[in-house]
Amino acid sequence: MDAKLMLMIPGPTPVPEQVLLDMAKHPVGHRSKEFMEVIGSVTQKLKWLHQTQHDVLILTASGTGAVEAGIINFFSPGDRVLVGSNGKFGERWVEVCNAYGLQVDEVKADWGKPLDPEEFRQKLEADTTKSYKGVIVTFSETSTGVLNDLKTINSHVQAHGSALTIVDAVTSLGAVHLPMDEWGIDVIASGSQKGYMIPPGLGFVAVGPRAWEAYKTAKLPKYYLDLGKYRKESAKNSTPFTSSVNMIVALHTALTMMEAEGLENIFQRHQRQMQATRAAVKALGLPLYTADDCGSPAITAVVPVSVDAQQVRSIMKNALILSLLMVRIP
Ligand SMILES: *Cc1c(COP(=O)(O)O)cnc(C)c1O
Repeated sequence: MDAKLMLMIPGPTPVPEQVLLDMAKHPVGHRSKEFMEVIGSVTQKLKWLHQTQHDVLILTASGTGAVEAGIINFFSPGDRVLVGSNGKFGERWVEVCNAYGLQVDEVKADWGKPLDPEEFRQKLEADTTKSYKGVIVTFSETSTGVLNDLKTINSHVQAHGSALTIVDAVTSLGAVHLPMDEWGIDVIASGSQKGYMIPPGLGFVAVGPRAWEAYKTAKLPKYYLDLGKYRKESAKNSTPFTSSVNMIVALHTALTMMEAEGLENIFQRHQRQMQATRAAVKALGLPLYTADDCGSPAITAVVPVSVDAQQVRSIMKNALILSLLMVRIP
């Protein structure tokens, strides 16, 4: 077994050996009976991961494609949306909304700081005409390592009563507790190369009943990312376009491994690893980018001061042991 390449980036994350081996098999037909069985099984496992009874749809797209699909299927041109922006990905969803002609209001926070749920509450309470159609939040903001307080923000959206909650869970799904049905989240988008432990290339969009209701009247243009097509085919254990069959086989293996570990154990493992990483960084005398109470269990950002980030990465990639020897104990 080769030593795994230590990329030391938020994703692609390391892929288990068994997943790689299963991916290496010859592709099966995407309309074959055996593949439809795989899709059926994978879909059940995806529902387990999302803690939902509702639809989870599989797209051949990166995480951005999944979030874009999660936005454009439920709105019409000129619809008003509220977007949380405290890092690179929050900014991206503002750009996507603008590209499709939505009317965008933002709740902003400085990079490295969490979004303030109070600001969502105030804006949503002030919206007595119910003009907000959606609230878009990045749960784990990968660019800064902040975990936003989605649960509280979402409770304010619930109180508003008509806006949909759309969540970018690309790094949080599979790392942090995100119970779609219990919290009443309408849309969750994610991508394969982060918590799923498989290579980049698949996107996932979970859609609840309130969002499907909005879908019926939504008029933004869509074709490849039209989730209605995916729902229709998903009911027949299929996908509308040629699936990335090897990736879905890999997904099946990875989700089977995750089921064996159990959701609670997975979340606790990420929590432990975050705490260990944060303690180690502090012991090294390096500054963390986020405060202890808003750190993401999926990713920890460190602000290099006297050391060059690229150099740290290349040393860790080439010889992990070397980086240990370089730690000077004061
Ligand atoms: C990685 C990531 C994305 C999606 O990135 P792609 O390059 O399109 O896969 C979106 N949001 C967050 C929070 C991410 O970490």
